[in-house]
Amino acid sequence: MKRLDQRVAVVTGAASGIGLATARRFAAEGAIVVCVDLESSAAAGKQLADEIGGEFADCDVSDEEQVAALYAGVVQRRGRVDVAFHNAGISPPDDDSILTTGMEAWERVLKVNTTSVYLGCKYVIPIMLEQGKGSIINTASFVALLGAATSQIAYTASKGAVLSMTRELGVQFAREGIRVNALCPGPVATPLLMELFAKDPERAARRLVHVPLGRFAQPEEIAAAVAFLASDDASFITAAQFIVDGGITGAYVTPL
Ligand code: NAD
Repeated sequence: MKRLDQRVAVVTGAASGIGLATARRFAAEGAIVVCVDLESSAAAGKQLADEIGGEFADCDVSDEEQVAALYAGVVQRRGRVDVAFHNAGISPPDDDSILTTGMEAWERVLKVNTTSVYLGCKYVIPIMLEQGKGSIINTASFVALLGAATSQIAYTASKGAVLSMTRELGVQFAREGIRVNALCPGPVATPLLMELFAKDPERAARRLVHVPLGRFAQPEEIAAAVAFLASDDASFITAAQFIVDGGITGAYVTPL
């Protein structure tokens, strides 16, 4: 399918995980992909951009000047922005129980996970308003919908904010041709997570028991949902919380 033929798509956090898989999927669907990540991930970002015939742009998405320059640069080079996937995020180990998580970790997580989405939307929406069309997908998480006894308090709060901000933007700009949706992935089998769980099977089992499908997602399965939301196939979907979680949020008791 070439549902994104010649569309210009910006993907943040493209050097790894969900962003990487989505950049590949967007390109396979015909998009010109701007792969955004930190300068420290430039090698992986450039390799990806070469592979998919896109471009790499280094940008700290939590920095207003850099985000403004990113979108101004994309318009200058490519003429438009059809799709914005605001996906970069962090989940650091010093974000834990509220009893032990300090202000520094709290502020860092909120800045990278939430302020970045505010900034991305702030700078891409005027471009899309001028075009009269655009699709924005902001990455929240299933933890924006469910509480966990294994808390990461700043991360959870940051994703709740992404979800409610996205809903409001979807409503505000619906009649101007801009769709804004929040993606709520369940746990994804990223290399880091798998390594952690291999070392600590109890930790993995404690989570897996809640997933009706009985496994974690592959990044490509999340990317497929993002490509759908980005495309005109999702033309009647906006202000949605789009859940891709293997059934977690629908479950009370799961099969053994
Ligand atoms: P990942 O760590 O594999 O990739 C995140 C990318 O974002 C990295 O390449 C990193 O360099 C980049 N990044 C971090 N801070 C940045 C900044 N300030 N500016 C620009 N780029 C920055 O993560 P992932 O697992 O692919 O997660 C992607 C998104 O999905 C995140 O928002 C995460 O919270 C969310 N999510 C992940 C899972 C999961 O299980 N992996 C589940 C639900 C939601």
